[in-house]
Amino acid sequence: MTTILFGGLYHETHTFLAQKTGMPQFEEGGIHIGEAAIDRNRGNGSPSAGFIDYAEKAGWRIIPTIQMAAQPAGKVTDDVVEMFFEHYLAGLDRHVQEIDGIFLVLHGAMVSESSDDVEGLIMRKTRERLKALGRPDLPIGAVLDLHGNISDEMVKLSTVVRAYRENPHTDALESAVEAAALLDIALGEPGIRQVHRATKYVISPTGVGSANEPMKSVLAAARAIEASDPDILNINVMAGYAYSDIAICGFSLSLVTRGTVEAANEHLDALVGVLEANIEAGYPSEDDLQTALAKADALPPGSGPILLIEASDNIGGGTPGDATGLLGPLLETGRNNILAALADKEAVAACFEAGLGAEITLEIGAKTDEHHGTPIRFTGKIEHLSDGVFQLENPKSHMASMGGTTIRMGRCAVLVNDQAKILLSERKTAPMDLGQYHSQGLRPEDATYVVIKAAVSHRAAYDDIQRASFYVDTPGLCTSNLKRLPYTKLGDKVISLT
Ligand SMILES: [Zn+2]
Repeated sequence: MTTILFGGLYHETHTFLAQKTGMPQFEEGGIHIGEAAIDRNRGNGSPSAGFIDYAEKAGWRIIPTIQMAAQPAGKVTDDVVEMFFEHYLAGLDRHVQEIDGIFLVLHGAMVSESSDDVEGLIMRKTRERLKALGRPDLPIGAVLDLHGNISDEMVKLSTVVRAYRENPHTDALESAVEAAALLDIALGEPGIRQVHRATKYVISPTGVGSANEPMKSVLAAARAIEASDPDILNINVMAGYAYSDIAICGFSLSLVTRGTVEAANEHLDALVGVLEANIEAGYPSEDDLQTALAKADALPPGSGPILLIEASDNIGGGTPGDATGLLGPLLETGRNNILAALADKEAVAACFEAGLGAEITLEIGAKTDEHHGTPIRFTGKIEHLSDGVFQLENPKSHMASMGGTTIRMGRCAVLVNDQAKILLSERKTAPMDLGQYHSQGLRPEDATYVVIKAAVSHRAAYDDIQRASFYVDTPGLCTSNLKRLPYTKLGDKVISLT
């Protein structure tokens, strides 16, 4: 029977955020040790579920070690990484003579206090341990997020890595299934190799939607190569994650081949050519609020909300979800029928204390740091209070990639006045699924303006209901204007074309 050691450590790390991602955040996101790594993930829509599904259908025996994940945020504390290694390497030590391979659920853009390349570190420690234990060539497979910043070391020391291909990540589970299938091939074909190609381009999350250029053409070209060259088993088009100030930040490519390195490099050259032919679209410009509203006013009549996209507080990219740089000025314009969500624990507590139906004046938002605006004084009636648990309406939502289909926003309060409905939650919740609002009695479909704290990941939920959407340039650490960020480690990488 094929026996596979399984583990996971998943985080997208925004190195400019001062708030660290520590054990409490991973406890919130999920730390599953031993059998719980299987039982708690089976069927939950996550990449781990995809691996488990493939393994169980293939009749593999899974030896679980530890699987942990947390929402994108600041640097991961070393104790988290140490906890992962403690359980993972203990499992490896104990079972090394019984296993045929290793499968890991990773992100690719994880940075800890002491490592700029945690996934590379995992591969290095694994290989070192395997060497010491007398099994240096054991196949290692992994599934990665499309936003991974990938090092040569990570690719060189792993056997097969397979990244998501869709952004929004509607294919996270399916990508894990495909990664497991690649590992299955690698178990029987020791000659398989990977080739990696870094590029100089660092592109903000707003520039890497898979339906838009440059990703669209590069992904299509990659699929064409896979279809025409039987040696090529998989090509990863890695958008990278711009908010990591690390030397390996940026767009990269990698592939799995049965053929030669020379042939692989020719394919990678061709793909870099496609990227460069379309690169301008990767650096889009954004409107100020007045311009965006003027464009909205000029639209022909239609139905559905105008989405005002606040990419600078892209929750899926790690920022606090409490920025007020869009909502504050929008309220000041006097416009109404506005819907917005803010993460604000203190405000939620005040609402629960005041009780359902009470009228309350609060300072909402902008409480995490100095980068995301100033609190808004808001007076409204408390129309809904809840525990904030909801099920994804779309189980293939980008959100499921981070931890499954049950979402916990923490306690929630809905504050309403003549101008706006504000969903306040204890935990930041990325706008990737309409269940976020519907579960709280709110309908984005009926709003005139919805403030969206995302770059691309909202699109699977909102494309079908929106009238139009406009990206608004506001302050925040997930800004699309990368020139505003104090990078120190990028060397000659390109963060802007102007
Ligand atoms: Zn991603």
